[in-house]
Amino acid sequence: MPLLGMRRPDLPASEAALRQRAGGERSWTAQESPLADRRAGLFETCANPHCSTGWLRLWRSRSGPILEGGWSCSPGCTEELVRTALRREMEARGPVRETHRHRVPLGLLMMEQGWITAAQLRQALEAQRTAGGGRLGQWLMRLHGISEELMTRALGLQWSCPVLGLEYHDAEALTALVPRLFLDAYGALPLRVAAGRVLYLGFADRLDPVLALAVERMTGMRVECGVVCGAQFGPAHQRMLAARFPHVELIEAASEAALARAFARALEKTRPVAARLVRVHDCLWLRMSTRAQGGMLAEPDATRDVIGLMGIR
Ligand SMILES: [Zn+2]
Repeated sequence: MPLLGMRRPDLPASEAALRQRAGGERSWTAQESPLADRRAGLFETCANPHCSTGWLRLWRSRSGPILEGGWSCSPGCTEELVRTALRREMEARGPVRETHRHRVPLGLLMMEQGWITAAQLRQALEAQRTAGGGRLGQWLMRLHGISEELMTRALGLQWSCPVLGLEYHDAEALTALVPRLFLDAYGALPLRVAAGRVLYLGFADRLDPVLALAVERMTGMRVECGVVCGAQFGPAHQRMLAARFPHVELIEAASEAALARAFARALEKTRPVAARLVRVHDCLWLRMSTRAQGGMLAEPDATRDVIGLMGIR
């Protein structure tokens, strides 16, 4: 089930439409990669609506920098485009957060299924309380011999998502999809890409719909989330984190304005043929492509990520 049943807005593919909707609503198209190649001919004028240049700067290459389909004629205009994108990301309400609520507690769910008894649940909760923590599932497995497979099935029911397998997992081939930092911080594992359009994203115990939505907007692929059995997830996650990822730069900024300046500098320096900005929880993720890409999958050596974190002094 995609993104826990959240409906995607059905939007036209044009970047112009995306810009018109930039007033806060999240919008993207799954039909076309946002980072796909676009002809330079489309960018005959600066994309900054407040550009004061008034005429074409013929001496500036028009192959870049291009942010979300718009070419900017000067560093000042690049910064203005970044500010607009950044504001949109900061103001966007997170409808997916709502899905975190009203989740049936795991223990109750397992009891309803007849997989554990009320006494077993009480004991596990008691042990959890006495120990001052630990996941309930771990306590159920330890105290009552509940199998990992059953726990994974229960998690799948709790999150209304499929249980995903790790067959033919090729970590190296998937590193260009999501930066290592996010896989590490949010416990996610890209599993495979089907037909070049659907990305299966696995989690060990809790889904992260915010990350899934961000990856969907960034890659243009549909993201299907699921839980993976913990015994399989751990080693595969470690292998993945040890693989080679696209170049990434981390930025800590004291304010939104400082972050916009830093992103603009990165765009001016890299001059990407395509770039996009999305928010992932407290991070802002700018992805740049240094050359036109054929398919939906980003090419690691042509991909530069900049991840910004605000509020750190
Ligand atoms: Zn301009």
